Amino acid sequence: DVTVGVLALQGAFSEHIQLLRKAAAGLESSQTDNSNWSFIEVRTPDELHRSDALIIPGGESTTMSLVAARSGMLEPLREFVKVLRKPTWGTCAGLILLAESANRTKKGGQDLIGGLDVRVNRNHFGRQTESFQTNLLLPFLSSSKTKGADRPYRCVFIRAPVVEKILPHRPGVQAEEASREATVVAPPQTPADALAKEELKAEVEVMAKLPMHSSALEDNQEHDHAGAEDMIAVRQGNVFGTSFHPELTDDPRIHVWWLEGVLKAVQRRRQFEIADRTR
Ligand code: GLN
Repeated sequence: DVTVGVLALQGAFSEHIQLLRKAAAGLESSQTDNSNWSFIEVRTPDELHRSDALIIPGGESTTMSLVAARSGMLEPLREFVKVLRKPTWGTCAGLILLAESANRTKKGGQDLIGGLDVRVNRNHFGRQTESFQTNLLLPFLSSSKTKGADRPYRCVFIRAPVVEKILPHRPGVQAEEASREATVVAPPQTPADALAKEELKAEVEVMAKLPMHSSALEDNQEHDHAGAEDMIAVRQGNVFGTSFHPELTDDPRIHVWWLEGVLKAVQRRRQFEIADRTR
């Protein structure tokens, strides 16, 4: 059984749950995946601990962070991402929260969860292209068994952040900080330490960039496309982030691809846990 949580403090969480259901149905029919998936809304540390993987949706990152802090979720989230190293995907505001660094906006700054050694620029596209959509080929989808990986994906950007800089990789530092800060709300976990150590070595991979001549930018003639060639999807080990909102489309291909990765991660974790126990 695999439980995937969607952080439901604010933002487009129900849209993610719908698309996860669609993706799981697709996975079941396309291959021999007989996992028993559950998709749950996560608002409490307890719900987080039940999750094998987590999605942080789009919304407003300052609000989401404030609500997380007020409901005692920030430390458990940091522990989930940076110490336990469970698969976590952030879309838009979720990407901001998963960055180690972000700029302040008029709405203020916020406490981040971190996990991705990147700096994001919030509301990157300014006023003219506050929101736009563009069809992009996402090469990473071709590793997936999902059908039509080579078809362009409709990427929806809404006051989107981009990754403006990859920060120096500091293996282990993030995790140490996170566990030092953690107030141990967590019940004792099976550590699977070896697995976490492996994940720590992972560096940031750029999974997608906004090309120079994307159709959105052509649609919007007034804009001098400051956004060209910006990094809009990155992964570092267990942590994945996209500037855009797959949850606002009905195309489940990225969710299928991500769930395939979740399955592998969960299987590996369970193997490590068995090894831990039999040592
Ligand atoms: N601009 C928003 C923020 O800073 C993110 C927008 C979104 O998630 N659509 O949080």
